[in-house]
Amino acid sequence: MTRVVRTRAELREALAGAPRPVGLVPTMGWLHEGHRSLMKRARREDATTVVTIFVNPRQFGEVADFTRYPRNEARDIAICESESVDFVWAPPVDEVYVPGFDTVVSVGRVAMPLEGAARPGHFDGVATVVAILFGLVGAEHAYFGQKDAQQVMVIRRMALDLALPTEVIACPTVREADGLALSSRNVHLSAEERAAAPVLHRALVAARSRSESGERSGEALRTEMRRVLAEERLANVDYVSCADALTLSELDHIVGPCLLSLAVRFGPTRLIDNELLE
Ligand code: AMP
Repeated sequence: MTRVVRTRAELREALAGAPRPVGLVPTMGWLHEGHRSLMKRARREDATTVVTIFVNPRQFGEVADFTRYPRNEARDIAICESESVDFVWAPPVDEVYVPGFDTVVSVGRVAMPLEGAARPGHFDGVATVVAILFGLVGAEHAYFGQKDAQQVMVIRRMALDLALPTEVIACPTVREADGLALSSRNVHLSAEERAAAPVLHRALVAARSRSESGERSGEALRTEMRRVLAEERLANVDYVSCADALTLSELDHIVGPCLLSLAVRFGPTRLIDNELLE
């Protein structure tokens, strides 16, 4: 039986006697197979699983993007039930940001490029809410999707720097059959945009294959991604990146692990994806 709790106090009380280890899966709801894969992993590794459903206003730049974000709590809770999740924390905003709340957790360099540059304040919002969740839940493990690769790096940095006892575990990106990474935002795509959206993955695959055939120029891989994306009329490129997988600085020459990533707009909907080259 999944128990839904709303307040900080209820969550604390619910977890007080819960079997350890505890696994935490933070989400913004509108749950899909990507989220399910995180729950399944937590279920396998932890004695108690906690899913949080909270559309975090502080990580949205534009109010319109926050308002438009898809929500369906009843369906989300049913999905958590079907994954045998023990607790769902679905709080109102003032249980997360309690009256007088006045703290920002701001991660440095790794939060600056890519999504950090495209969405000012985004990672402050993410790091702050995840710090609250880590504090409240006190989980041994927290599961995040590699789909948001920079987010994983930002949260790892924060947890290390602040000596938070929760281990951050990255899980593989779940995709549709045509390669499109699952995302709550996909629901906003028109039929035509949905048909065009797998171009993100095609661009990453094309660049990976250039790298596998020995290409070591970062610019050549970025150019390859831009070339593939240009084939889709509906795709408006926000950025393409071939960056050092540890620092996220753009690479001229690839020597070690690198992260290929991109952000592309289809009308008002912005999609991201990435591929790690070990
Ligand atoms: P969100 O609800 O979009 O904030 O995502 C909650 C968690 O699910 C984050 O850790 C995401 O990285 C992860 N996630 C979202 N989409 C996917 C996906 N397609 N595959 C794996 N994990 C995902």
